[in-house]
Amino acid sequence: MPRKPYVGGNWKMNTDRVTGPALAREVAASAQANPGCEVAVFVPFPYLWAVGEAIGSAPVALGAQDCYFEPGGAFTGEVSLGMLQDCRVTDVLTGHSERRHVLGETDELINRKTLAVLEAGMTCVLCIGELLEEREAGQTDVVNERQLRAGLAGVTAVQMARVVIAYEPVWAIGTGKVATPEDAQAAHARCRAVLEDLYDSITADATRIIYGGSLKPANAAELLAQPDIDGGLVGGASLKGADFGPIVEAAGRA
Ligand code: PEP
Repeated sequence: MPRKPYVGGNWKMNTDRVTGPALAREVAASAQANPGCEVAVFVPFPYLWAVGEAIGSAPVALGAQDCYFEPGGAFTGEVSLGMLQDCRVTDVLTGHSERRHVLGETDELINRKTLAVLEAGMTCVLCIGELLEEREAGQTDVVNERQLRAGLAGVTAVQMARVVIAYEPVWAIGTGKVATPEDAQAAHARCRAVLEDLYDSITADATRIIYGGSLKPANAAELLAQPDIDGGLVGGASLKGADFGPIVEAAGRA
């Protein structure tokens, strides 16, 4: 069965109470025009409610960029999955490279968050990817495999239907440097082989593995046409409707 492409806009620590909902309305229009692509926006916590209202009934999943795995209690500054669901969030990012490498999240913490998202019945976009020095040392596949196995520990084959893997080479995130379609395809195929080893071929074939790292309208079509690239996680180019729209369109066509 063909995999439906998934394109997520990761707004990071950008937008505000006015620009967030305005951007969401532009995203809603592109999602409506491209029903062949599943679209999500990952919004800063304070604007989730307003963005959800702006999306209305349009086919755009409301996403959070992070979460905490405990259901509630004395965890100052953290946000629970119940709180996110109360704001109509359905999709959550775990393991984004900025959380791993800037905020110091470990594979173990990322796994606890991933399990909690899935146990809450939500969709989890688990991000993985190698640093530049790891790539230069020929460690790309080793790092991806380690992050996949650790991030998915305890996740069942049934739960995998609600997991999207985002392969994001760290050296390509926000740098303007993009993986070649051939290199990205090879990494995605290798990740799919790891999923087959962890689960089975049906689960591996059904799981969306999306690419992230300086994806923009000019390079999207070629990357998204690769057989194992099932969409994208988009940072910088998700902040303008005029850039994000063509990426959604390219994914819908691929
Ligand atoms: C990201 O933050 O997930 C990302 C891929 O960023 P950018 O598109 O800006 O490289």
